[in-house]
Amino acid sequence: MSIKVGIIGGGQLAGLTILEGASKNIDFAVLTDSRDSMASHLINNIYTEDSLDEFVAFSDVITYEFEHINPKILENNKLLDKLYPGVKPIELKQNRLKEKRFLKEYNFMTVPFYETKDGKEAYEIASELKKELIIKSISNGYDGKGQYVIHTSDDLEKIKEFLINSKDEFLIEEFCYFDFEISLIAGINNDIIVYMPMTKNIHKNGVLLYNFTDDFSMEIQEKAKAIVSRLLKTLNIKKGILTVEFFVKAKDIYINEFAPRVHNTGHHTLDDTEYSQFELLLRAILDLPLYHPSLKTQGGMVNIMGNIQLDKDLMKHIMLVEGAKLYWYRKSPREGRKLGHVNITAKNIDFAKTKIKSVCKILYPHQNIC
Ligand code: ADP
Ligand code: MG
Repeated sequence: MSIKVGIIGGGQLAGLTILEGASKNIDFAVLTDSRDSMASHLINNIYTEDSLDEFVAFSDVITYEFEHINPKILENNKLLDKLYPGVKPIELKQNRLKEKRFLKEYNFMTVPFYETKDGKEAYEIASELKKELIIKSISNGYDGKGQYVIHTSDDLEKIKEFLINSKDEFLIEEFCYFDFEISLIAGINNDIIVYMPMTKNIHKNGVLLYNFTDDFSMEIQEKAKAIVSRLLKTLNIKKGILTVEFFVKAKDIYINEFAPRVHNTGHHTLDDTEYSQFELLLRAILDLPLYHPSLKTQGGMVNIMGNIQLDKDLMKHIMLVEGAKLYWYRKSPREGRKLGHVNITAKNIDFAKTKIKSVCKILYPHQNIC
């Protein structure tokens, strides 16, 4: 008999997990209202909040691909009994202030931040600080949405009107001139913690554009692993995945944010790692064996975003890049929307970077971002 996994959310993280699990005799259901999503092109077991009980009954275990889950769903005790990595990380991730407060309380290093009760206070604090800052909405933010970068007093004045009329809470962070950004993805099953290969991540306007498996010092790798493992324990996660995004500046490594799930920066593992982050998730929540998956080759990924139509011509150009592998999520194109990604593999890091640049130029020929 097949194993049955329920995923809250039907986007690409669910979709890629389904593709990975299908070859291992795992059946899936997703809970989503959207038909314009990857999972709905792959499976028929689509449930909505109205059929939540059926979704729970179908599933041996349940996980989630995002954290902005309707709190009503989390009142279902039968669902909570099957849910990994649990409800605590969701509560923290639904509010950036709670997440940052938690990290501070347990002495995880973050950039200095300030809490504000509404937009007016955010404006006042930002004016007084006279520093370079990022003002972040506390909920529903992703891919740089709801974030306002303040380098000069002019930048602040431009959003003054918006801020002082806003009753929302905001998180203010000091702007960090990091050397680079990395992320580390870990899987846990009770006492065993394993790590995916680490990547360097390049964002443009707050959104991940590409990443690659770089050469990291042992010191950075060990520091990042120690932080992720302590965070897994502090969050009391027993089974599942935790991704942590870091800023690295000289010898210091700051947590930017965490995500209790598979992550965009782990997509490369589908092609360059002994087993992927999606398989790691399934192994972790289904009590299957875990070991540290090594890199088979160097690799990386470029996101396909925005108003891009995948016609045969574009496909041909991408496929001409040796080692490039296309993943298209079958969503409708929209400004800023992630529609797919291209993984590349290469014998060494320099070659990987060259291939990433080629793919990036194919996808974004008129934008000076690659
Ligand atoms: P999201 O939830 O949208 O991923 P993040 O808080 O991770 O939001 O911010 C997106 C990106 O914006 C980061 O990966 C980083 O490149 C940049 N960023 C965020 N906070 C800061 C900061 N305090 N200083 C400098 N850059 C930042
Ligand atoms: Mg982020």
